[in-house]
Amino acid sequence: MNSCCDQNHSLNLKMPQPQNEDRKKIPRDYYFLKILGEGSFSTVYLTVEAESKKEYAIKVLRKRQIIRENKMEYVNREKKSLLKLGGSDPSSRFFVHLYATFQDSEHLYFVLTYARNGELLDYLARQKTFKIEWVKYYAAELLLALEFMKVKHIIHRDLKPENILFDRKWHILITDFGSSKIVGEPDVLKKSDDTNCRRRKNSFVGTAQYVSPEVLHGEETSYSSDLWAFGCIIYQMISGQTPFRAASEYLIFQKITNLDYQFPEEFDQSAKDLVEKLINLVPEKRLGALDGTSYTSIREHEFFKNTNWDDLGPAPISSEGCDELDNLVIPNNLKPGLTDEITTQLHLNMLSSPSSVEVVVHTPPVRKKSEPNRKLTDLSEEEIGERLELQKNDEYCKFVEGNLILKKGFLEKKKGTFGFARKRMFLLTFGPHLYYVDPNSMTLKGEVPFSEGMKTEAKNFKVFYIHTPNRIYYLEDTTGYALEWCKAIDEVVNYYFPKN
Ligand code: ATP
Repeated sequence: MNSCCDQNHSLNLKMPQPQNEDRKKIPRDYYFLKILGEGSFSTVYLTVEAESKKEYAIKVLRKRQIIRENKMEYVNREKKSLLKLGGSDPSSRFFVHLYATFQDSEHLYFVLTYARNGELLDYLARQKTFKIEWVKYYAAELLLALEFMKVKHIIHRDLKPENILFDRKWHILITDFGSSKIVGEPDVLKKSDDTNCRRRKNSFVGTAQYVSPEVLHGEETSYSSDLWAFGCIIYQMISGQTPFRAASEYLIFQKITNLDYQFPEEFDQSAKDLVEKLINLVPEKRLGALDGTSYTSIREHEFFKNTNWDDLGPAPISSEGCDELDNLVIPNNLKPGLTDEITTQLHLNMLSSPSSVEVVVHTPPVRKKSEPNRKLTDLSEEEIGERLELQKNDEYCKFVEGNLILKKGFLEKKKGTFGFARKRMFLLTFGPHLYYVDPNSMTLKGEVPFSEGMKTEAKNFKVFYIHTPNRIYYLEDTTGYALEWCKAIDEVVNYYFPKN
């Protein structure tokens, strides 16, 4: 056995444990119902605790990979920050809670709040923009969360809509503290390692658009770094776009460094003033940077004029009629725990069910759950006609030149070895075509050319490549349905270029 495996078995997280853990939990204390998504070295499952029947998201991290890629520090950091932010303080509600941790020889398990309503990023991409009242509400929740992080001496450093999840009542749950800094403790992501950190983030989540200039340049970070991101997020909720947009990561970095961004004409005036005061190159000059624990100067800004800081009231989004909890059933034959057999079954289930990222507006999923073996292309003339008619209600219909959409969903499209990625709506259609659209500007960005020699290659449940004769496309489905994408594309290739 090599040393990596030896290390693997001796790996122990010697960290403060979550409170109120009567005894160490084990996987068999939970029913693992479904895969919610895959990270670079983790898989997140929807689970129900056998005893309490409470639902949790359990993040299962692969020890061997963490050691091999030297990511222990990120894992420890995440755990430590989540523990600090947990507890009974009312402001703890704005964070994913870490209920328990345990491990076996191969995995670390983090038992987390289940964020039932997904990511702010996805919701925003679907809505395009938020009503100004919604922006005020979520900006206020975010500000209270930032104040609490300050109380707990935590700088997030990677705040962005992808790391802001929604709970069942559509309140925010901030997550992903792997890059956070605990003020007063040594910053293990040293300056020389900072580029590495950014590269790590980019290869994981693919965006530098919210990163403050000081984080970008590997300089000293402060609470003010999160205020920069706060400004970028407000800008995006209002305009539907990030303030710093460009064709490459390098150009985005340049734009950030030069504070090169513009406001759309119709941008709310008081919001504009707030954003301008937050997105300031000098960290100390950002609004709120000199405040105490409470961001008084931001709270008092005109944008938040009528905000009741003691009670923000119910979230503006209502999930009536689409509450998944009601459907959460434990199958009769399912045993608690996470055996290889269950893992395999859950991955198979994931492949045969329609991807949660497919936002097929008014269009039924083409591959029905009941017909997992039916090919996407197995459609009668009548079905094609019906679907083309339904498709007219789809906001992406205008990009597909009258072709039938067989599969659609958001993918991160990576460019270059540095791994910078942009979120694109991919539309796989008859024709054959694979169009991709920028969901922010709603412009067609291009098309992956179909040919006989086209091949897909799944690297894991998130990342996959499309090899074409002239180019490789690096794609990531952050919700873990890469295999479903490969299968769909292969089916269309085989339909148009059947092998003998
Ligand atoms: P990476 O590790 O590459 O940075 P990541 O941070 O998205 O990616 P994870 O934290 O493992 O990786 O999450 C994987 C996916 O699981 C997420 O994209 C999200 O869709 C889902 N997920 C994570 N945490 C939760 C949660 N608490 N509730 C619901 N879904 C979650």
